[in-house]
Amino acid sequence: MNHQHARIILYAIATGVVLGALMGWYAPQAAVSVKWIGDLFLTALKMLIIPLIFAAVISGVTALGDVRKLGRTGLLTIGYYLVTTGIAVLIGLVVVNLIQPGVGISLAGGGLPANVAAKQDMGATDILFQIVQPNLIESAVNTQLLPIILFAVLLGAALTTVGRKGEQVIDFFAGFNDAMMALVIWLMYAAPVGIFALVAGRLGAAQLEGGFVREVSAVGLHVVTVLSGLAIHFAVLLVIMFVFGRRGWRYLASLMKALLTAFGTASSSATLPLTMECAREEGVDPRAVRFVIPLGSTLNMNGTALYEACAAMFIAQAYGVPLGLEHQVIIFITATLAAVGAAGIPEAGLVTMVIVLRAVGLPLEGIGLLLAVDWFLDRFRTAVNVWGDAVGATVIDRYLPEVVEDPELREAAEPT
Ligand code: ASP
Repeated sequence: MNHQHARIILYAIATGVVLGALMGWYAPQAAVSVKWIGDLFLTALKMLIIPLIFAAVISGVTALGDVRKLGRTGLLTIGYYLVTTGIAVLIGLVVVNLIQPGVGISLAGGGLPANVAAKQDMGATDILFQIVQPNLIESAVNTQLLPIILFAVLLGAALTTVGRKGEQVIDFFAGFNDAMMALVIWLMYAAPVGIFALVAGRLGAAQLEGGFVREVSAVGLHVVTVLSGLAIHFAVLLVIMFVFGRRGWRYLASLMKALLTAFGTASSSATLPLTMECAREEGVDPRAVRFVIPLGSTLNMNGTALYEACAAMFIAQAYGVPLGLEHQVIIFITATLAAVGAAGIPEAGLVTMVIVLRAVGLPLEGIGLLLAVDWFLDRFRTAVNVWGDAVGATVIDRYLPEVVEDPELREAAEPT
């Protein structure tokens, strides 16, 4: 997409978010009636995810050229995810200890939502079984991305070891990937309208249900805590991008299309195609884009990690359970795991919070306290999740100089 179009679309999406919010607020009935347009856009995005991930990861891995480079890139990438997720949880714990949003909260209205009740026994090892799955088709049907990514990484690595015949398949997936990116660009033209309808529909529904404002003020400090934590972490990522990724404000401006889409859809997976396109537009090395962003869209969730830590502490404060340093260390570890385990779909973080609450013995019913405002906070944390992946791509790009400098490999990875 050329820069002028990209800029027009960005302004149009931003206008869509504002108009959607206004319509949802002032004309909720009409807003709810346009929700289907947003759903259609979301469905179209979802349609692209599985083939896009499959082709992008295979061509990303094969463009590294050598299985050993895959190991290095993989380690660097996982290292980046872990460090930034750890920073996010730490920021969450600091703000929640400073603001103490749960102290003195009324416990009325708690209760266990059905999707959480179904996962009551979830533990940390379940995350491993989300990665290794017996049936890829079934995973695709359920939009479980991790098994598909694992398989694509392994297949890509294997393709680089089988010589000439492998090259044909590699070429095939490179072409497939380019075509998928072209589809993403087409769909981006529909994003302003789609995101307008998504925001209008959701806010309109909250208005009609009534009580949104009441709930926000009941747990207002919780909302303030999470939003300020997320804002701080957003700025930290910005600094990481300046210092380690060597990019300027322009990168953020370009990524705004993806961040607003994340806000509109509350799903990092649905936003993935746009995140990749925005990073590619800014000239991030295609191998970093294809490897770091798809994997990050499901593993690297900075916003969710921060939220899990804040929310668990909020529940502890509301129930008057004192949690000392040793418990907060457990929260630190489990919030990181819970964020890794959360799928990139709306309100997934609320479900994996079971891991954190069980680890420190907090009542799962506490989740009920957060329900009314979760859809709202979800949008902000999803935008931070997506921002974390986009910054990660710049960092990995920078730290693989020998890959970037090898003109032959670069050419092989460039979309034609
Ligand atoms: N909605 C978030 C995402 O897709 C996950 C969550 O925190 O619920 O990134």
